[in-house]
Amino acid sequence: MSKGICILCRKSINDGIIINGKYICKACEDRLVNANVETDFYEYYKECIKKHLVEHMVKSNYLNMEQYRG
Ligand SMILES: [Zn+2]
Repeated sequence: MSKGICILCRKSINDGIIINGKYICKACEDRLVNANVETDFYEYYKECIKKHLVEHMVKSNYLNMEQYRG
C-alpha cells in the first residue's frame, strides 16, 4: 500500500483516518476533534474536505473510483 499524505498538513502519515480515500493524520484529527466550529482550523478543514471531495467526484466521472483507493 502507498503511504497517505495528510490533506491538511501534507505530511506523510502512519496513523490517522481516511475519508473518501483522503488521509487525515492523527495530529490533525486530534486538532479537529478539539476544534471549535468557529475556529480558523475548522474552516480550513471544511474547505480542504470540500475541495478534495469535489476533485474526487470530478475525477470519478472519468475514471473508476477504485483506482484512487490505497
Ligand atoms: Zn495532518
